[in-house]
This record gives sequence, C-alpha cells and structure tokens, in this order.
Amino acid sequence: MMQQDDIKSRMVKFYARGDERVTINATQGHFATSQSHINYYIDVTRLKVRVSEAQEAARALRQRLLHNVQTVDTIVCLEGTEVLGAFLAQELERGDFLMTNTHETMYVVEPEENSMHQLVFRDNVRLAIEGKNVLVLASTVTTGETVKRSMECIAYYGGIVGGVAAIFSTMTEIDGRVIYPIFDQVDLPGYATYAPNECPLCKQGMPIEAIVNAYGYSKL
Ligand SMILES: [Zn+2]
Repeated sequence: MMQQDDIKSRMVKFYARGDERVTINATQGHFATSQSHINYYIDVTRLKVRVSEAQEAARALRQRLLHNVQTVDTIVCLEGTEVLGAFLAQELERGDFLMTNTHETMYVVEPEENSMHQLVFRDNVRLAIEGKNVLVLASTVTTGETVKRSMECIAYYGGIVGGVAAIFSTMTEIDGRVIYPIFDQVDLPGYATYAPNECPLCKQGMPIEAIVNAYGYSKL
C-alpha cells in the first residue's frame, strides 16, 4: 500500500559513526536516479548548505582523511559541495596534511559542465589542477559515474587524484582511488541500489515516488 506521508515527514535521522554531531536524513521508499533505482532517498542537504553543519561535516571528513591522504593542493567540489569544500580546506590547512602550493593555501574549485555535458575547467582555473594533488569531494556516491567523470576530467587537465571524500558512499573505491565517506552502507542498514530493469520494487508494482539526484528530489 502507498504511504500517504510525504518524503520529508517520513525522514529518519542517521548519526555518523564516532561523531554524533553529524547527521543525515533518509526516507525509505522507491526512488529513481538517472542510472539506478534506490530504496532510500538520502538527504545530505543540511551538511552542504547550513554553515554550522558543514563545519562539523568538514571536521568529520578530516578524521577520515587523516593518515590516508597525504598531500592536498586542490579540492574539486562536485554536486553542490562548495561550502563544505571551503570548510574542509580550512580543516586540512590546520596541519597534518602536506601542500605543494607556494602560497600555502588550498584551491577549492568546481568543474563546469559544458553544452556537450562534458566537465571542463576554464583556462583561468587550470593552474589549480595541472600538476596538483587533487582531492575530489562528492555528495553521494552510489553508481560512481559522476566521480569517475570528474577523475577523467582532472587527469585530462594534468591533475593527480589522491582520493575521494564524500558525505555518503556505497562504494569503497573507484578506478583504484579510495573513497572516504562520512556515512557508508553500514550506517544505513538495508540501503540498496538496483539497475532499473532489475529493480525488485518495480517488479512488486510499487510506484516510483520521486526522481532524485545529489541536489534533492522531485516528486512524481
Ligand atoms: Zn524500481
């Protein structure tokens, strides 16, 4: 039977392991992304758009990255993570991480998507990528397609990807680069992602509630 509540009122809070100040919300149901169907909509918006929560999330990410990623010159932000990226840069600049930039501050940039849907960096931003040690910062990694595209783009412009930080990830690595998420599948028991043609929820005749992506959801 279809639930009458909307997606927001059914949200449940999940706490980051080892850091209860960092939380995300998730709603169980049947949702479609551009590449998959999922049984949870995960809302990480607060960690991206609220300053105090982005700061806490940046501290949590610092702990995940410490002793795992050595050198960070540039953070490449994907999927609306620029606010979090700026706080993360501040956290990493506090020490324990190396940087090769001569001006001793990190770059925080985002790729642009051109009309051909390719990720590009303009000429004035390339100095932040070429020959630099890059940390990719993603919102939610489930199929890994967006991160993969960004890594190809960074490599094309001569950057060296040293790791991937994420708010939530079901994957542990992409093309040999380790993903360091605040939340993973263990934190969301039962989370599952399906190829659209193999989705058991579709097979049960359960209607899709909303189209979701890293920025949010649109109800159908
Ligand atoms: Zn489905």
